[in-house]
Amino acid sequence: MELVIEHLSKTYPNGTRALHDVSLQIAPGMFGLLGPNGAGKSSLMRTISTLQEADSGSIRLGEIDVLRQPEHVRQVLGYLPQEFGVYPKVSAAELLEHFAVLKGISNKSERRQVVDALLHQTNLWEARNKNLGGYSGGMKQRFGIAQALLGDPKLIIVDEPTAGLDPTERNRFHNLLAEIGEDRIVILSTHIVSDVSDLCRQFAIINKGQVLYTGDPLVAIEEM
Ligand code: ADP
Ligand code: ADP
Repeated sequence: MELVIEHLSKTYPNGTRALHDVSLQIAPGMFGLLGPNGAGKSSLMRTISTLQEADSGSIRLGEIDVLRQPEHVRQVLGYLPQEFGVYPKVSAAELLEHFAVLKGISNKSERRQVVDALLHQTNLWEARNKNLGGYSGGMKQRFGIAQALLGDPKLIIVDEPTAGLDPTERNRFHNLLAEIGEDRIVILSTHIVSDVSDLCRQFAIINKGQVLYTGDPLVAIEEM
């Protein structure tokens, strides 16, 4: 399944042009979207995630027309926003269980299996019964990934995930992303070059709402 973005543009009501004629073709694996603050990364991520509309252009995910079939996209999408709130007084296990119900995993033993597997995968098993309010930044991010992975989505969008993580947590998070990027599209939005060069075989540089470069980060670095 490929994600194909063509001629996407978006200007906010106050006149800020956030996206201008953006076209990208994204294959399964980790894709890095690199750009400074204000480049338009979040606007693009929110548009792909169907959280906001575009003015013109198209987005196709496999057979799905993303802008016209938002409800189809939501069934195959996992989204980890830049700053997501966690409910401080519930445990990771409880909240994941709750989200699994919302995802429609109605069989209790199946749900248990899925939740337990995700807690193991994200290295949160030991801390599963701790309240989320006591989690570190890195643990919260990993919990966000566990949540995003529910329902086995074909596309995962991760917005500025490593900002504020210490090097150990950042490494751990990178390893987790590399693992989940093996068999789906993972789009990693970041302003940190090494997030992209460590993890992604395809990337785009975006600034002022425009795509300036697409390619393989290792090739790009050699060319510089
Ligand atoms: P990035 O995620 O790369 O930092 P954004 O997509 O958040 O970039 O922002 C792109 C531009 O659009 C910035 O100039 C930002 O201030 C502006 N912008 C973002 N969201 C809105 C909004 N809801 N209304 C008006 N301007 C916005
Ligand atoms: P990012 O850190 O990803 O660039 P922003 O700080 O630009 O995100 O945006 C945070 C929130 O504020 C978003 O919901 C965005 O839509 C909104 N926002 C950003 N810039 C503006 C703006 N100039 N006018 C109105 N809302 C904005």
